[in-house]
Order: sequence, then structure tokens, then C-alpha cells
Amino acid sequence: MSFQNLGLSDAVVHGVQSLGYVEPTPIQEQCIPLILEKKDLIGSAQTGTGKTAAFALPILTRLGSRKGPRCLVLEPTRELALQVENAFQYYGRFSEVEIGVFYGGVGYDRQKKLLEFGVDVIIATPGRLLDLQQRGLMDLRSIEILVLDEVDRMLDMGFLPDVRKIVELCPKQRQTLLFSATIPPEIDSLASWVLQNPVVIDIGIRRAAASTVTHAFYPVAAAQKFDLLVQLLEQTHYESVIVFTRTKQAADEISDRLKVLKHSVTVLHSDRNQRERIAALEGFKKGTYEVLVATDIAARGLDIAGVTHVINYDIPLHPEDYVHRIGRTGRAEQAGDAFTLVTAEELKAMLDIERLIDQKVPRVRLKDFPYVYTALFDEAKQTLKPVKGYRTSRGVSYGRQRR
Ligand code: AMP
Repeated sequence: MSFQNLGLSDAVVHGVQSLGYVEPTPIQEQCIPLILEKKDLIGSAQTGTGKTAAFALPILTRLGSRKGPRCLVLEPTRELALQVENAFQYYGRFSEVEIGVFYGGVGYDRQKKLLEFGVDVIIATPGRLLDLQQRGLMDLRSIEILVLDEVDRMLDMGFLPDVRKIVELCPKQRQTLLFSATIPPEIDSLASWVLQNPVVIDIGIRRAAASTVTHAFYPVAAAQKFDLLVQLLEQTHYESVIVFTRTKQAADEISDRLKVLKHSVTVLHSDRNQRERIAALEGFKKGTYEVLVATDIAARGLDIAGVTHVINYDIPLHPEDYVHRIGRTGRAEQAGDAFTLVTAEELKAMLDIERLIDQKVPRVRLKDFPYVYTALFDEAKQTLKPVKGYRTSRGVSYGRQRR
């Protein structure tokens, strides 16, 4: 199957070809014709398999030349909004479609000017979008296509009130598209008010972790987590690594401590101002920094080439977030490693992850790390066959230690 045969406009085909895409990915092949037929859709596929183009290409084809805001794409984070805008701009560079991105943490002037000039596609985070609407600057009554990207996140308790308001500001007669790598079974009832007779496209299972990623759990006592992280960084040949923490404070603290140890590190969380957030992400993408310490704000959707490792310093609270976090590596069929530090208190979260990804993840002990005892070693002993010498505090590897 080629992009030409999917019914896309010549300008859009030219756009993807100029990016070097040769053929559509499975999610693109299935979704593009349905979106062109104006069907409502729930689309899910593994992280990093081209979901953005699956909706951007047919939307750009359908919109043609400028007639006011006709498509709204909602994104959960500013970083993702910027990335999706960037993708639309690239795919649409030979099309006459105006694309604008709207998110908080920055002034209003540029966004106001954009709206005065006129945009066809609005890519936005919910808070700033409602803010602009309440100031009388944004009118959603002409929206024909609504996209909720990372839909399970957009419909969770935190975002739902804002998303409901936004959906109500859009016309009832519209096309609605929902996308995510993790679509929980209850999405059908959660999203029924937003959709009309949707077609469901599932490429692989709805909870799929990228198949190119190797997983490992590292049981450790809470007091030794930082030391183990340092050892892991020292013993691993990585190009770039994202370290996920549960809180902003932990992200700051770990990045400060890694800096002291002369690691090239930057930090991303929602208490940093927008300039700092952009500088952190750009610096990490360019390779100025090898380590990015981040909260779950960086868990979803971000497409950063060459992330060889994801380390979960804190295990994610929701198992779906594990799939998204590790989806930052192993993108576009590249190999990646996902290490997760696990303390005794995190045992349940660990088992929930295994259940969700339907995989037994090897428990690994670092060689030559001076482990103190943690009850988790007993869990590991029951489920795995430790090698001789397992109980010594010097630590013996019973999982595969890569590279
Ligand atoms: P996404 O899942 O939308 O974040 O896309 C993941 C990566 O795959 C991005 O770097 C895209 O540029 C790339 N990509 C998307 N579609 C294709 C395609 N058909 N051929 C090659 N690369 C693609």
C-alpha cells in the first residue's frame, strides 16, 4: 500500500514523501480512508507507530484552503501540543492549511495575532483553549473535526471537566477521532457521549508496549535507590536516557545530585517555566544533555530520536503510564531498554504492570552493588530461580545484564 492509494491530496503525499516516509504504517493504512470518509473513530496502536500522521494526513487533505477554524486537536501537555503542531506543519508544508498551537505558560499576544490572522487547525491544551474562548478570542462553532489525542488521559478525572466544556462548545454535527496507545475497556462508555457510531481500529492489543523494548525490574531498598541509579548509569552504554520520577521535587533533587556527579543532565516538570521546559527538551533532543529527569509530563507521546534507555526511578502509579513512559524508547522500530527500580512498597504496582503488559519482567540485580536486604528479594526468590550466592549482599545477577 502506498500513500497515493489512500486517497490523500497530492500536496499531502508530497509532504510525507519529502520527510522520507516510503509507505504508511498499519495504523495509517487503516485510519486514513475512514477519516477521509468522515467516520468517527477510536484508534489505538503501539507507541511510536505513526498515530499523529494517521489523523494529520487525512485532516490536511480534507480541509483544503482556509475557511476559519475547522479542526481542533486537544493534547494533554504543552510539549505534545508543540510536537503535533510541528508534525502538522511538516505534513502540510505544500498544503494551504493554516495551523496554530495554543498552550499556557506564555503570553497571549502571539496567539491573539494568530487567531486574528485565521487558522484552520487548532492544536491546544485544554486550559489555554478555554481561557481564550472565555476572553472571546476563540470561537469553536465552526469546528468540523475534533481529535482527542492521548484520549485515556484526556478523559480521566483531572482533564474531564475542561474537556466536557470544550466538546460542548463544538457543534454536535462533527467528526470525532480518539487516539491513544492505551485505551482502557471502559473507554466505550466514557466516550460514548462524544462519539457517533465509531469505528474501532486496534493495531495489536490496546495496552501494547513497544515490542522493541527490553524490560527489567531492579528490586532495591528505598534508601539505596539513588546509588543504584548512579550505578546503572555508570554500567550502561546509553546514548540518551530519560529518568522518570513521581514528583517534581524528586525530579529536581535527582537532577541536582546527578549534576554534582558530573552527569550531563536537565530536568522537565510542570513547575518549570515554559522557556525552561522548551530549553530542557530541545537540549535533550540535540544531545546537549544525555540525561533528562522528568515527571509523567514527559511520559506521553514525545517523539525523541535516540532515547536508548528509560529508567523509572519511581514506579508509575498507573500501569498505563508504564507503557507510555517506556514508549519514549524503542520508537520507530529501534531497540530500547526500560529499567524500573522497585521497592517493597511498590510490589503491587509492579505486579499490575506485568498484568497489563501481559509479560513476566525479569528481576535483575546489579553485579557488585552493595545491596542491603529488601523484602522484594523474597518475592523474586519465589518467582525466579536465583543463581548460586543470591542472598549475599554483594549482589549476584540472575537476570540478563545487557551490554
Ligand atoms: P508518532 O507515533 O506519531 O509519534 O510517530 C512516531 C515516529 O514515526 C515519528 O518520528 C514519525 O516521524 C515517524 N513516522 C510516522 N509515520 C511514518 C511512516 N509512514 N514512515 C516512516 N516514519 C513514520
